[in-house]
Amino acid sequence: MSGRAFLQIPGPTNIPDRVLRAMDRPVVDHRSPEFAQLTEDVRVGLRRVFGTQDGAPMLYPASGTGATEAALVNALAPGDRVLVFNYGIFSGGLGVIARKFGFEVDEVALRWGQAVPPSEVERRLKADSPTNPYRAVMIVHNETSTGVTCDMAAIRQAMDAAGHDALLMVDTVSSLASIDFRMDDWRVDIIICGSQKGLMLPPGLGILGTLMLFGLREALRMLVDEEGLDNVYARHARLAEGVRAAVRAWGLPFVCEDPSTASNTITAVRTPPGVDSNELLKHARERYALSLGGGIGELNGQAFRIGHLGSLNELEVLGTIGGIELACADLGIDIETGSGLLACQRAFLSAGTREAAPALAAVV
Ligand code: PLP
Repeated sequence: MSGRAFLQIPGPTNIPDRVLRAMDRPVVDHRSPEFAQLTEDVRVGLRRVFGTQDGAPMLYPASGTGATEAALVNALAPGDRVLVFNYGIFSGGLGVIARKFGFEVDEVALRWGQAVPPSEVERRLKADSPTNPYRAVMIVHNETSTGVTCDMAAIRQAMDAAGHDALLMVDTVSSLASIDFRMDDWRVDIIICGSQKGLMLPPGLGILGTLMLFGLREALRMLVDEEGLDNVYARHARLAEGVRAAVRAWGLPFVCEDPSTASNTITAVRTPPGVDSNELLKHARERYALSLGGGIGELNGQAFRIGHLGSLNELEVLGTIGGIELACADLGIDIETGSGLLACQRAFLSAGTREAAPALAAVV
């Protein structure tokens, strides 16, 4: 198919050309001063993204899942108790991983579409065993399967209110460098993340070894030094609002139950009853080269997910929304063609995209 394909899954995300070019170079000596400087540059940038002065970023040769395993086995001892909340495939996955490594897991079942209620964290911690207390509370900041973001500041407050000193371990795989995160302010002990989402790199940081660090340095320059993290977070919020406006216009339900917890990196949408979301995904991919995320776990066949994170702008979001509308129209799915596009454009205009326009209009 001619033209560029649209990769709008919630990660891996599109890799900017600059980042690709930064990795397209000969391997360097990993014991050279140049390499030491490279890792230092990367760690300085990562600290900014993590929101920490003193935190120690570690680059681990693995995917996000491998980083979770590394965090658990390095911070805890076998048999330690951990508290997890299941509100999607990745938060549920934390319990699965922790059990595999021999930790004792208390798993609180929530509805998929719900965020972790801070009051529940406080209640569980207050009721904890005084003799064998939890050693860690594990939270997925942004649950990628449902498009729900947890309020980490409130969760930290809940832990403080309970007077509990469990470690706070947070999976930021689909939020880091896209949604504001403050490791120091929220006193997060361990952050887990991967390279393939907000950081705009291929998955599996260590697999490509040294060359990927050049890409990471370039990505951090773009995010931290050039666009600026506040602007990065604001852009993700603006693009997400455009996507949500489109979904509202289609009249399709969000998986996320509470709009105040809606994710700025991924939106999960329920398909109408009787419509298999996998059919929609297949058609969008084959006919329009538009890749969307599928419903996973209990949402398989019932939902699709629009990824709107990483290297992305307004027109790409509009292309994605337009592509979904075309695919729905082809399959006879009952949404009004163009309604989402219009709503998305209006959301962008009212969010201030238009502010950039007067100069252009004057030239025309
Ligand atoms: N945690 C979250 C929130 C994720 O979204 C993902 C992947 O999408 C993972 C963990 C697993 O990461 P990886 O696929 O890099 O192992």
